[in-house]
Amino acid sequence: MRIENTMVTGYGKPDEVIWSVHGYEPDPVYRCERCKDKLLGDATVYNWDGEWFCEDCMNDAVNSLSPEDRADVVGESVAYTEQMVELARTYGELAKVMKLETSIAREEL
Ligand SMILES: [Zn+2]
Repeated sequence: MRIENTMVTGYGKPDEVIWSVHGYEPDPVYRCERCKDKLLGDATVYNWDGEWFCEDCMNDAVNSLSPEDRADVVGESVAYTEQMVELARTYGELAKVMKLETSIAREEL
């Protein structure tokens, strides 16, 4: 599912904008379960072993696996899997190759 850009709808603003207007850090929003980075409510999160990761952490996690482990996850040969990972142009495509469940931060965190 695709979520509308918050900058266009005016619903929600990046932290920096809120800080500069109010001069303080707003209440915590949603945090990646790995790096604890703040995420906007409509950020896509990725299920990695039962924890919801931001896209950077998901990418790191996928890259930290050996080619053999990635092939195990995908259920294909190492050569095929590595080619598919190489061809993935977005985090969403990578998640699809790796068969990761995706969701939205506000629904999961
Ligand atoms: Zn993260």
